[in-house]
Amino acid sequence: MDQQKIDALRAQAVAPFSHLIDGKHVPASDGGTMDILSPIDGRVLTTTAKGTAADMEAAIASARAAFEDRRWAGQPPAARKKVLMKWADLIEENALELAVLGVRDNGTEIAMALKAEPGSAAGTIRYYAEALDKIYGEIAPTSSDILGMIQKEPVGVVGAIIPWNFPMMIGAWKLGPALAMGNSVVLKPSETASLSLMRMCDLALEAGLPPGVLNAVTGEGKIVGESMGLSMDVDVLVFTGSGGTGRRLMEYAARSNMKRVYLELGGKSPHIIFADAPDLDVAAKAVAGGIFRNSGQVCVAGSRLLVEASIHDDFVAAVAKATSGMNVGDPLNVDTAIGAVNSEVQLMQNLGFVETAQSEGGEVVTGGDRILQDTGGYYMAPTIVTGVTPDATLTQKEVFGPVLGVTPFNSDDEAVQIANATVYGLAGGVWTANLSRAHRMVRDVRTGVMHVNTYGGADGTVPLGGVGQSGNGSDKSLHAIEKYINLKTAWIKL
Ligand code: NAD
Repeated sequence: MDQQKIDALRAQAVAPFSHLIDGKHVPASDGGTMDILSPIDGRVLTTTAKGTAADMEAAIASARAAFEDRRWAGQPPAARKKVLMKWADLIEENALELAVLGVRDNGTEIAMALKAEPGSAAGTIRYYAEALDKIYGEIAPTSSDILGMIQKEPVGVVGAIIPWNFPMMIGAWKLGPALAMGNSVVLKPSETASLSLMRMCDLALEAGLPPGVLNAVTGEGKIVGESMGLSMDVDVLVFTGSGGTGRRLMEYAARSNMKRVYLELGGKSPHIIFADAPDLDVAAKAVAGGIFRNSGQVCVAGSRLLVEASIHDDFVAAVAKATSGMNVGDPLNVDTAIGAVNSEVQLMQNLGFVETAQSEGGEVVTGGDRILQDTGGYYMAPTIVTGVTPDATLTQKEVFGPVLGVTPFNSDDEAVQIANATVYGLAGGVWTANLSRAHRMVRDVRTGVMHVNTYGGADGTVPLGGVGQSGNGSDKSLHAIEKYINLKTAWIKL
């Protein structure tokens, strides 16, 4: 990474953003705009359109028209593939610009952002582009006087609602399979991280995606997001974000056209360390990285450390040492390990969780404070809290910040019991040299993703989805395609 290039990009003013509807950039119907504050320094970076319900309806109408006249779904698979491959190339060609813009908007440290945002988004789009002409229908084994054909059809208009932690990566998880299968999409990025994703949408048009196939409306969740959720003309809603919003989306679907709703929600992922872990120092570094990168704003963050009681003190000290080696600061500095918290609201919420943990008997071993306040930005010291009981708020509620709660356990059964004692089930990890124990943990810990002797780093070939209140369905891999197709049976008398 070239610090000079990054600095040159960050010095550039960012022009105001507007919606993308029917292939055109348009302002909000009432002219409304929202200030976008950079978490790096708390200053106004630019503005975006503050969408209205009418804007969302216009975007949905555009997507519907594009779907009905088959300007995209009707193209030969090879033609769709060519456009999506070109889009992935353009994302890669503009990777640094996109990453720096995204970091100025959401505060993720640049080293991680570059890989996880444009890098991952381009890879995802390419993965589904390559897959789209390898997906076949089926002939059912019916009696010989009947031909039972099963076709995979696009669903129609997909509404995609995206959070702020990794807008391009998560955006691509929805856009890749949705567009590959011939759907039209209306995107609703997060209020506090929309810029890089909006620019990525422009690149899709540049790559040859027909106007109207991909529309994007910025604005508040409770206005444009609600309007999308209640629309009678959106066929599938795909969402990544908090459980509270997920619950509302299910209600919107029930109150409108019973659209399919797929939810990727939060987590409270247990990172379980046994005394027989192959290398406790490596494990300690993985625990620190697993919770503190991107200031803990990672859905699969290992936010609960469950550690075998016999090594509790030494292991906590090792994690604290690994944490002290992670410098917090300007996310556009290539050496920064932990960038800014996305917003002041989120920062205050994080600090509130630490206070609550202390009031419930937890002890702060390191961190616990807002730091670098003189920058005007939103920074928090990575925080480790010990003495967190299985029923404590810090065990039960997702912080979505750089806060690690530590709970000791004495047996395999107890580890599993504590690990499973939340409403979530997104990710988890176990460190042990005992193969049977590792397999038992993979089997018994109730999550969508389980890591053994490593944490994070999964790629696009494997599904990511939660169980319990962490959601339904999955992003990534060929399995994600199921969300974006209908199965149609043709029953033909021979
Ligand atoms: P959020 O629920 O506040 O917002 C997510 C999106 O929903 C935003 O675009 C927002 O504008 C929109 N929204 C808000 N209210 C809405 C409403 N009433 N109707 C429709 N849309 C509405 O979540 P967030 O704070 O942006 O993201 C953090 C959450 O996302 C965390 O819980 C995190 O764990 C989760 N997450 C999950 C995954 C996963 O794959 N499971 C990945 C990343 C983040």
